[in-house]
Amino acid sequence: MRLATFEMGTRRRVGVVHPDDGTIRDVTDRLPAGTGVTELIEAWASYAPALAAVLDDSPALARDQVTLCAPIPEPRRNIFCVGKNYAEHAREFNDSGFDASASEARPDRPVFFTKATSSVTGPYSPVELHPSITGQVDYEVELVAIIGRGGRGIPRAEALRHVWGYTVINDVTARDLQRDHRQWFLGKSLDTHCPMGPYAVSADEVELDALEVAARVNGEPRQKASVRDLIFDIPDLIATLSAGITLRPGDLIATGTPAGVGIGFDPPRFLAHGDVVEVSVSGIGSLRNEFLEGLL
Ligand code: MG
Repeated sequence: MRLATFEMGTRRRVGVVHPDDGTIRDVTDRLPAGTGVTELIEAWASYAPALAAVLDDSPALARDQVTLCAPIPEPRRNIFCVGKNYAEHAREFNDSGFDASASEARPDRPVFFTKATSSVTGPYSPVELHPSITGQVDYEVELVAIIGRGGRGIPRAEALRHVWGYTVINDVTARDLQRDHRQWFLGKSLDTHCPMGPYAVSADEVELDALEVAARVNGEPRQKASVRDLIFDIPDLIATLSAGITLRPGDLIATGTPAGVGIGFDPPRFLAHGDVVEVSVSGIGSLRNEFLEGLL
């Protein structure tokens, strides 16, 4: 099933997306007040049958009748991310001079960091370049696992049973801040620097090994890779994180980006006012964001 968060009128609403034509069924008024996608995921077994039924018995909204938000617009805590998780990208980042964190190209343990939840924005929303504090904004397409069943000490072999489903982010990064402040949090967390969506897609609809991630800038292909090429796969990431951190429903784990980001070029190709970045994961969806100097 595909879940959407959207705005229509003044209220934020929750919907189920039709698998064939992409139309949306608004389920907000059938749910307890304040129920968002995270709450649906948390009690999925009790909600899923009724949500599946609405595809047949409620009016369809066309995509252009609504404004899509990130499916999980206010994650409950920092978004777990992993750096240098595709070998070719780890090499390009290491060679770029922007990696102040380590000297080795291929990490032997996952390199975790987080993005502030306040950086999340919609799948088609404009992204701010923040020209007064950075001149080096870059893109990173990433597959994101959404935790459905929480837990601590989750073994690798059981990890995928804790995944509710998947979504897509652009892990937008201010490279100069990432380098100059050593720790990556600041350079990864500026307002609007986490476009997410377009939907939260349940795991039963996803063949993980077949997924391909890709990014284009102004239509030009920049990144393309198979999720099979992850150095640390999703079970590795869940086992490592949950060894000492209790995972919770709705937690997001961004799995890293492949080669082809702006700092992989010589000279680097940073984003400029008016650039349009499209990031996609096959079978899950695409984000399309225009990058602007200001969002007035
Ligand atoms: Mg990243």
